Amino acid sequence: MRALETILVAKGLVDPAALDAIIDTYETKIGPRNGARVVAKAWADPAYTARLKADATAAIAELGFTGRQGEHMVAVFNDAGTHHLVVCTLCSCYPWAVLGLPPVWYKSAPYRSRAVLDPRGVLAEFGLVLDPAVQLRVWDSTAEMRYLVIPARPSGTDGWGEEALADLVTRDAMIGTGVALMPGSRNAGAAAP
Ligand code: FE
Repeated sequence: MRALETILVAKGLVDPAALDAIIDTYETKIGPRNGARVVAKAWADPAYTARLKADATAAIAELGFTGRQGEHMVAVFNDAGTHHLVVCTLCSCYPWAVLGLPPVWYKSAPYRSRAVLDPRGVLAEFGLVLDPAVQLRVWDSTAEMRYLVIPARPSGTDGWGEEALADLVTRDAMIGTGVALMPGSRNAGAAAP
């Protein structure tokens, strides 16, 4: 993507600011909306949650999300006692079909190493301070296995429809560097920065 961008900009074919806006849209809005719909359905439908636990690739494909880097999916579920965090220590394996393009930090050497060495420190830098009693599990993605974090459902959302629930699910919540938004929070309804 960046190599293509360099060529297009050098040829004067695109405005770099416009291209950045497009990339940002795919990183933070369009791509992660797919994953947000998976999470919302898991929150709303226990039968779907069961299928997601049994075979995440198939359950995600039910919603039409398939394709490159969308195979071999595993869903990991946060709850009151466990928080999951996803990294690719080797390169940048990422579930494109449900999360879109990986953010730049996900591909960075510091994230890839520190997510393993000091995961609680990394989470704190994202503004997420875990209770010491919460077990933190770090999952290393590979070409054979890609993880989608199903964040805990926020309280105060009883009876909500899937559309409204999906608005609470940020990209970072599905990587594990964040949690789902609370109802009425300032960012609810918009993708996280
Ligand atoms: Fe990788």
